[in-house]
This record gives sequence, structure tokens and C-alpha cells, in this order.
Amino acid sequence: MKIGSIINGQEFKEEHRETLSVFNPYNQEKVAEISLAGVEDVNKAIDQGFKTFHSTMKTMPAYKRSNILLKTANLLEDRKESFAEIIAREAGKPLKYSRGEVDRAVQVLRFASEKAKHIYSEVIPMDAAVGGENRLGFTKRAPLGVVSAITPFNFPLNLSLHKLAPAIAAGNVVIFKPAEKTPVSAYMLVQLFHEAGLPTGALNLIMGKGEVVGDALVQHDKVQKVTFTGSLPVGKNIRKKAGFKKVTLELGSNSPNILFDDADMEQVVEDLVKGAFAFSGQVCISAQRIYVHHSLYDSFLKEYVKQTEALTVGDPLNENTDFGPMINKEAAERAKTWIDDAVSNGARIATGGELKETMLSPTIMTDVKSDMKIIADEVFAPIVSVIPFETEEEVVKHSNDSVYGLQAGVFTKDINRALRVADKLEMGGVWINEISTYRQDNHPYGGVKQSGIGREGVKYAIEDMTELKFIGINLNEKRL
Ligand code: NAP
Repeated sequence: MKIGSIINGQEFKEEHRETLSVFNPYNQEKVAEISLAGVEDVNKAIDQGFKTFHSTMKTMPAYKRSNILLKTANLLEDRKESFAEIIAREAGKPLKYSRGEVDRAVQVLRFASEKAKHIYSEVIPMDAAVGGENRLGFTKRAPLGVVSAITPFNFPLNLSLHKLAPAIAAGNVVIFKPAEKTPVSAYMLVQLFHEAGLPTGALNLIMGKGEVVGDALVQHDKVQKVTFTGSLPVGKNIRKKAGFKKVTLELGSNSPNILFDDADMEQVVEDLVKGAFAFSGQVCISAQRIYVHHSLYDSFLKEYVKQTEALTVGDPLNENTDFGPMINKEAAERAKTWIDDAVSNGARIATGGELKETMLSPTIMTDVKSDMKIIADEVFAPIVSVIPFETEEEVVKHSNDSVYGLQAGVFTKDINRALRVADKLEMGGVWINEISTYRQDNHPYGGVKQSGIGREGVKYAIEDMTELKFIGINLNEKRL
């Protein structure tokens, strides 16, 4: 299967173009070949998007945008299995999690379909200012125009929709650049939107290498906003280059989960196995640091290791697989060196630590120190550390000792303590009696510190993808 960029509904995969193969990370089976785009394709897509915005999207009524989103949701629901299978093949994500991703993506589209009809604004009390009598003032939320959406490999469908769906709900056009490792689900998604009736120039797909096409997507004068999900170095580079454009950055983290002495151990162990090892830890809010009150530490660790070792490891396409490969060999080897570094500095492996090609076994570390890479940096791999603590003050301090601040989990039956700790944690989001890895698609989501700028979650992304415009009327009779 050879696929290419889609600009104004036309696919570009001519023979002369450079190509890139996409491989199943589990068995290296070739999934697709992509025909690569260059800077001139990006410029063409942006020019087309700009035209379509002014000719169509800017004035498309809300009910039509809403209907297109709803129709796309219904089509995606009908084709759930084919999307889940392609995500399992291109990303190596176990089928059960790939299906879950499609279900969430359908919901995101439905949220966006609803929100498209509820983009409200307000009337300003103009007479609150001296001399403001006889004036009417109100706001409108206007679409921005062309939005560049750059997305990562780990949730190739749902995280793309967290950008595409609110952008379209608000009446924007999108230039969409998915990760080169997972382009096939993105290609299928663009076709669904077109099938659902979205004007072809309103969603243009760029199949290119980030390092080649990235700057053009970020710096072009006709792009009004860049919305990016991915790694910190790329995010920093985008921020630097975007100039006056609006920018949303959804970046990494090393999420802490805190178990106080009254935590409900039974459920939390099971949840934290998923929280650390779902999709091999390649989740931005994966549980990376688990702080356990010293009174529970030994029993927690014993049960945590036991349940982790019971995971079904193997081919992502098998129904029963819980745990599959990492995205590629380089990523798995990089993670293994972080384990080795930690061990050579005194850390211990409670389970896991074995690497074979792309399969790094689910790894639990103990006796770690705060300056080790597996603690201080984002591991983005199936590696979790279990760390004992004594006091609330100490655990809050350790949790906040990070350049990141995306989401945390706090487990306690004491609601006063839970709310106090939630206030003290420097995070974009805190879950109480829920793991850091849990996310619902309608709550505000995003980071503080170097975890990012701006919020997603359909309603919040729509706010970021519109401009607040003020309109005032002087009601003086002579002027009307
Ligand atoms: P990545 O390497 O940063 O890539 C993300 C996207 O950026 C890809 O489409 C990539 O294209 C593109 N890109 C690369 N270089 C670029 C450049 N110079 N200019 C513009 N775009 C460029 O991230 P990843 O490995 O796919 O994803 C993992 C990271 O995403 C982790 O750090 C994770 O925490 C983060 N993440 C964050 C969230 C969140 O919501 N906060 C959610 C999921 C993931 P190519 O594929 O062609 O290189």
C-alpha cells in the first residue's frame, strides 16, 4: 500500500517522490509505504487551506459543521475494527488498547459535533464605565483561519482528533501532519472526513518528515495557529519559531502517583499495572514515579511485581495481548541504557529489564535516586520506579521536583489531605483516587512548566482555536 499527501482532495504519490516505509514494530512486516511531501507541498496545502477558509469554512453555519463531525463519528464507529487493526499494526499497540483508542476518538468527534453548536459569547455591560451609556457591546468567537496540527505516534487517531475536531467545530481549516511512524490511520481519517462532507480543501494531509516540513508548517505567514503534541525538544523549537502565532504545546511528563497509608491497595495495584505498562509506557501521562507510604511499601511492591509478571506479552494483533513492543529498536535501546545507567548507580530491578529487539520487558525499579534519568527525565518506555516516603511534605516536594507538570494521581481516603495535596502539586491536572494515566476527552488537559502551553479537551481547544472579537454599537438615535 502506497499512500501520499492529500491536498484539496488530491493525493500526491508520484514515482519521482522519495518514499519511506512503515513497519509493524512487533514483526517488522511492512505496513505501508509513504510518498513524502516537501516544503513546496506544504506551501500548496496552506495556500489551498487559506482559500477554502475564506470561500467556505469561515461562513459555514454551525449546524453544517456539527453534522459533518457527527457523520465522521458515525463512519468511524462503523469502521472501528479496521482502524483498530491498523493502529495495532503501525504503532504496535495491543488490539484491546487500539479499540479503546477508536472508541475515544468517536467520542471526541461527538463532543466536537455538540460543541460546534454551543460556541457562545457574551454581552458586555457597557454602562459600567462612565460615559458608556447608550452603547451595546458584545463578543463573538471567530475562527482563526489556517491551523497547523502536528501529532505524535502514540495515539495516532485520538490525539489527532483532539486537534482536527475542535478546529473544524470552530470553522477553521487544518493542515495535518501526523507522525511518520504512524501515518496510515491519519490517511484513513482524512478520507472519512471527506466522505462525511467536509470540503476537501478544509483538511489537507502532509505526509512528510518533521525535520523537513516542520518549519514550513510553523513559520508560514498564512498559518494562524500551531497545535503540537510531541516531545519537549521539538516543542521548544516550534515555540521559538512560531513568532506571533498562537501555539498549543502538549508535551511530555514523568507523572507521579502517590499512595498514602490509607490508600485502597487492592484496586490501585491493578490500575497502576495498566498505568505504567499500557502501550509499553509510551503514554505522556504514564505512571513513571510511584511514591508509596513506607507502611505499605513492601506489600505494594510484592503485589505490583506479581501482577506485572502476569501480563500477557506478545503480538499486538492477538486478542489477549496486554503488552507489546516499543515503537522501534532505537527507542527500546535508549530505554535499556537508562535502566543500565540507573543500575550502575545503585538502583535495583525488581522485575523486567530484558531487551529483545523492540520488546523491552515491563520493568519495575527500586532504590532509585532523584537525579537518575529514569526519574528526572521522561522515560516514555515500560519502566516505572517505586519509591518509599514518610511524610506528606516530603512526597509533595519530590513530586514537584521536575521540569514537567502534566498529571498526577493521589490515593487516600482523607478528602482534606487529598485536596490539600492536589493544591500543592504543580500539575496541569490532579486525579484523586485515580491514576495519572486516566484521561477523559472532555476535561481540560495540558501541562504546566515544560509539559506544555494551552489546554485540549474539545471545549477548551475550541477556545484556543477561536479569536475573541469585540463588536460595539453606539446607540445614539442620531447615528442609527
Ligand atoms: P516527536 O518526535 O516530538 O514527534 C511529534 C511530531 O512532531 C511528529 O509528527 C514529528 O514528525 C514532528 N516533528 C519532528 N520534528 C519536527 C520539527 N522540527 N518541526 C515540526 N514538527 C516536527 O514525538 P513522538 O515521539 O511522536 O511522541 C512522543 C512524545 O509526545 C513524548 O514526549 C510524549 O510525552 C509526547 N506526548 C504528549 C502528549 C500530551 O498530550 N501532553 C500526548 C502524547 C504524546 P516525524 O514523525 O516526521 O518526525
